[in-house]
Amino acid sequence: MYEKFDVIVVGAGPAGTACAFTCAKNGLNVLQIERGEYPGSKNVMGGVLYRKQMEELIPEFWKEAPLERPVIEQRFWVMDPESVVQFGYKGLEWAVEPYNNFTVLRAQFDQWFAKKAVEAGSLLINETVVTECIVENGKVVGVRTDRPDGEVYADVVVLADGVNSLLAKQLGFHKEFRPDEVALTVMEVINLPKDRINERFNLEDNQGCTIEIFGDSTKGNLGTAFLYTNKESLNIGVGTTLSSMIKARLKPYELLDYLKNHPMVKPYLAGGESAEYLAHLIPEGGYRSVPKVAGNGVVVIGDAAQLVNAIHREGSNMAMHSGKLAAEAIIRAKQREDFSEASLNSYREALFDSFIIKDLEKYKDATHTFEKYPQYFNDYLPMMNKAMSKFFTVDGTSKREKQKQIIKSITGEKGTFRVLQDLYRAWKAVK
Ligand SMILES: Cc1cc2nc3c(=O)[nH]c(=O)nc-3n(C[C@H](O)[C@H](O)[C@H](O)COP(=O)(O)OP(=O)(O)OC[C@H]3O[C@@H](n4cnc5c(N)ncnc54)[C@H](O)[C@@H]3O)c2cc1C
Repeated sequence: MYEKFDVIVVGAGPAGTACAFTCAKNGLNVLQIERGEYPGSKNVMGGVLYRKQMEELIPEFWKEAPLERPVIEQRFWVMDPESVVQFGYKGLEWAVEPYNNFTVLRAQFDQWFAKKAVEAGSLLINETVVTECIVENGKVVGVRTDRPDGEVYADVVVLADGVNSLLAKQLGFHKEFRPDEVALTVMEVINLPKDRINERFNLEDNQGCTIEIFGDSTKGNLGTAFLYTNKESLNIGVGTTLSSMIKARLKPYELLDYLKNHPMVKPYLAGGESAEYLAHLIPEGGYRSVPKVAGNGVVVIGDAAQLVNAIHREGSNMAMHSGKLAAEAIIRAKQREDFSEASLNSYREALFDSFIIKDLEKYKDATHTFEKYPQYFNDYLPMMNKAMSKFFTVDGTSKREKQKQIIKSITGEKGTFRVLQDLYRAWKAVK
């Protein structure tokens, strides 16, 4: 065992492992510390893993990684209590190599990925909690763990300890996150035979489908639900910002129960057996909540740095990419033997130059806008269902007259000016 490591990575989720893998592959001595029994044992994800950022680390990983199904169809539902408006895309180009994205079960995927880092030379220690960073003369020089004599030292400590990083908070990189900066999501894995999944979702064996559900799935609150296909199970979950949950006095398990029993959802789950029940926070503060990500001897990556694009449900890919960018900055710092904040800031620069911060910046006002103006989820989504129902009900009214009635029902309720104002504000928030 090394006395002092080049790098200590705290956490073995996608961010930490991407960083440990890249550092080890480039000849650095890496120690990765995970509090769970094994990587993935504590980790939660709706389940969509994106190909591109993983492939940059391990080319053609799909040939050996434990994946569930390549996603060939992405559906979007807007639900009210008795109906659903659907749109989406299904493409057979996603059913063949190199694919677009995959559903995964994190308990299996994270273990496999962490093994790859170990094969590259990283040392992994499970069942160990990092309790704090050791700071000497204003520089992070190591970590203290819950093991006896559990102090370890390194040139750089990488904080990949997930949402609400206590270690970054301890360093003063961020304050306690506000309830509108995090979403609380509950999900269940439901076992169902493969043939039934294929029949119900209109899929072949090696094809997967994702459904993002808006509207009544969160009882009109800011948030979404999801239903994803694995090989022989379904992942179903729902979440809203913590602030919406508090305001509307929602209980997360009641919300999931409501979703599972919704008439549009229930038939998909019929006959399934609950295999796992999980709850987790998602950082949703976006661009404005990204904390300081580099200091003397320390960098922050993945969820710990709030790198999640809630609009596109991208988190695992941002975690991996930030882990890779941090590793590359550490490798450069090692060449200079300079682990100061100024040196490690090359990670921050690369991060801000990447799709991660560019995408977060694009949506920097989205969550706040939809939280501040609840009419989008409360009023406009249900209006969509009513409008569709009216338009497609054949009752002898001419189509032009129907169009007029629909527009009148929308503008009549709120006034044309207010509707235009709302539309403009929503467009500005996501443009
Ligand atoms: C319900 C849900 C659905 C989601 N769906 C998707 C999706 O479909 N697609 C997508 O891309 N993203 C999704 N996300 C987001 C995605 O899961 C995260 O963005 C991603 O896991 C972040 O990776 P990470 O490595 O930064 O953090 P994590 O995966 O949370 O890993 C952090 C690790 O650090 C360990 N740890 C924490 N503290 C310590 C400590 N003090 N000492 C030692 N170890 C510690 C933890 O045990 C954990 O293993 C979803 C999230 C949730 C909650």
